[in-house]
Amino acid sequence: MRRLVVVSNRVGPLHDGGKAGGLAVGLGDALRTRGGIWFGWSGEKSDEGTFGPLKIEDHDKVRLATIDLTPEDAEEFYGGYANQTLWPLLHYRLDLANFDQRYENAYRRVNERMAARLTPQLQPGDMVWVHDYHYIVLGERLRESGFTGPLAYFLHVPFPSPEIMTALPNSQSIVRSLTAYDVIGFQTDSDRRNFARYVVEELGGRELPNDELEAYGRTFRASTFPIGIDTQSFAEFAVSDEAQEHEAQLKVLLRDRHQIIGVDRLDYSKGIPERFRGFERLLEDYPENRGRVSLMQVAPLSRSDLEAYSDLRSELEELAGHINGAFSALDWVPIRIMTRGFTRRALAGIYRASRVGLVTPLRDGMNLVAKEYVAAQNPDDPGVLVLSRFAGAVKEMPEALIVNPYDTASLARALQQALNMSREERKERWQAMFDRISKGTAQAWCDAILKALEERADKKVQVRSA
Ligand code: ADP
Repeated sequence: MRRLVVVSNRVGPLHDGGKAGGLAVGLGDALRTRGGIWFGWSGEKSDEGTFGPLKIEDHDKVRLATIDLTPEDAEEFYGGYANQTLWPLLHYRLDLANFDQRYENAYRRVNERMAARLTPQLQPGDMVWVHDYHYIVLGERLRESGFTGPLAYFLHVPFPSPEIMTALPNSQSIVRSLTAYDVIGFQTDSDRRNFARYVVEELGGRELPNDELEAYGRTFRASTFPIGIDTQSFAEFAVSDEAQEHEAQLKVLLRDRHQIIGVDRLDYSKGIPERFRGFERLLEDYPENRGRVSLMQVAPLSRSDLEAYSDLRSELEELAGHINGAFSALDWVPIRIMTRGFTRRALAGIYRASRVGLVTPLRDGMNLVAKEYVAAQNPDDPGVLVLSRFAGAVKEMPEALIVNPYDTASLARALQQALNMSREERKERWQAMFDRISKGTAQAWCDAILKALEERADKKVQVRSA
């Protein structure tokens, strides 16, 4: 079995103390089975940055290796190109994208340095798997430094249509660097199709059978691998003591009222203002819900040093203030916003206490909250998932009530339908989704990508020896 080397922006945690998300669970299992390295940014800044010492944490056969960035790299590569250029662009927000040449230079510089620091850690027979938009060009740099082994890439966020992608200065060179990988994974077929279109229309490549593409004399596989969660564990979290305490506390507070829950990093891709407007419309159009239904929005602050994020926070506080001012009663407040973090178990209890899970991104690669909400429900009395058509998760969860978050009136209608759905219908819809996410777990996702990579590696060896 080949050793696995993972590269991603942040590393770990490896051991699930109830904290790890889907990615860490899936990768942690694969790394423990195969042995290997997980390499990325320490999250720290230092003057030496990527030239400084590696920080090593060994856990049995798995090494966590991280390195600092210089303050300048952290600002221009991470805060700049990753968060202000690629993130908005890949989420279709050209209006928010900042195309600064300094940021692109920093991106290339850091990718190259990270590849240079990874190369001496590699052993013959290793397979390398690079994650997400922070490290698109890293694979090409690894190839240049002589790595010929199996090389995979997974994009956790959407790949927009070429009409959007081509707005990125030097997009051809950036996307072209993906052709250095053997296997490229996307969350949905539509992301995969957008990429294939880009390869054909902008890079002059062509599509071959079996998900293969060819460009610049290289053949590679681009496929859809929707990421999942550790559904079983999350369902168990939801009946843990900690979850039950949280559920009970909310039930006392709610009495016989219903709660709608939203859980998202405070990010403009998540459609939180649209969600608030949909809830406001529910109270306007269906007044019987006044005093009867509340919205709890858990929104941990994210990237708050960037203007787009602090603007969003102000907008949400204003909107919630306005709605609360207009509708509050002596014993009922319509919207609560909480920016604090919760443990996975506490979160599971909160999901389970909520009759509606409201997930309304304007664009989202997958959205794991949708899957967590379903995993946490009580099978005898499950809540209803209301899910944006723009979340990657919608492909695997068609039994949710599917909404267009820009259409406020229809969002309100879906909420009303969710709040009044019979237990029988709730159970039927929930079961179908739960069964699907029980198969499509984080572990299954990881195995599928590694299997695809091994297959291509074997095929390459056969071609070479033929
Ligand atoms: P993104 O990766 O864009 O943030 P996802 O929905 O795919 O969006 O994943 C978000 C993850 O963050 C989920 O696993 C969710 O449970 C977790 N999360 C969000 N808010 C909190 C919070 N306040 N406390 C703990 N975990 C949170």
